[in-house]
Amino acid sequence: MTEFELIRQLAEGLDDRRDDTLVGIGDDAAIVRPGEGDLVTAVDSMVEGVHFFPDCDPADLGWKALAVNLSDLAAMGAQPRWALLALTLPQVDQQWLRRFVTGWRELAQTVGLQLIGGDTCRGPRAVSVTVIGSVLSGRLLRSGARIGDDLYVSGYIGDAAAGLALLQQRLAQQAREAERCHLISRLHRPQPRTATGLFLADHASAAIDVSDGLLADLGHLLRASGAAATIDLDALPVSDPLKTVVPDDATRERLILNGGDDYELLFCAAPNQRAVIASHAEISSVPLTRIGRVHAGEPGLVRAEGRSQPLLAQGWDHFGEC
Ligand code: ADP
Ligand code: MG
Repeated sequence: MTEFELIRQLAEGLDDRRDDTLVGIGDDAAIVRPGEGDLVTAVDSMVEGVHFFPDCDPADLGWKALAVNLSDLAAMGAQPRWALLALTLPQVDQQWLRRFVTGWRELAQTVGLQLIGGDTCRGPRAVSVTVIGSVLSGRLLRSGARIGDDLYVSGYIGDAAAGLALLQQRLAQQAREAERCHLISRLHRPQPRTATGLFLADHASAAIDVSDGLLADLGHLLRASGAAATIDLDALPVSDPLKTVVPDDATRERLILNGGDDYELLFCAAPNQRAVIASHAEISSVPLTRIGRVHAGEPGLVRAEGRSQPLLAQGWDHFGEC
């Protein structure tokens, strides 16, 4: 298979067209029509051996490479529209590419996103995705939290970290197959909270997606906002599979507070938004759980209700790990 054939396979496999795409894959560059509102863009790379295992299912990789980017758009309250894909592959492998396209398309179709271009080169396997979306009104930033705001998280956190720990055999393996699979799929197929983000654009004061770990990302949001927060550890949402697979309270708490890769949204909102947030959670069936509050204090500091020591973030830091 040549590079030309590879690009054709991508273009044909991912040919969902948007009306506002004037020129997609095939020319020297793409042309899109921005329309109303402001454009929002993000890029995220995934490198074999760092972000995914060499034996990972290419369909999961296609899904996740897009999902982590859509999650960034969700945290900005943006509607996804286009993507560009830079692929570095050791060889051109039709089977691999077909699976990759399948996983990508499954997710892209749910949000109406079109692949409009990219680049392909030979080398150690890596996938870099650029997404472009738009916001119609307002800006949902990390820096918007106000003293007195409530603090929320979407979905369940700690599941993906438990999935990784299961794969790396760092957790006791007595769990039932269904629960193991659930946690591992939360790692491989994170669900970007696009619809939640669009709702939050009008109702939240600040948001960030949880990629590095709840405490680490909360720290980023609070430092950007110049505030501190207290969280109620008993209020943290815990999925049933996580409860079953990790019965030990201390281990589970560590996974929830410091595990990363969940791609849920952590956000702040004024207390007068409680009712509308609760009803949105009900309608959308994405839990939105109030886990604490924002207050004055050393920017970035996180306390836990009833504990004297501040909580310490031990999230994922690429360069910190070296
Ligand atoms: P150039 O040498 O001008 O950069 P390329 O051969 O790299 O041209 O790309 C030709 C067309 O194929 C362009 O429209 C480009 O955006 C698209 N393309 C190349 N690689 C990818 C990819 N991995 N995913 C999507 N589109 C791609
Ligand atoms: Mg090129």
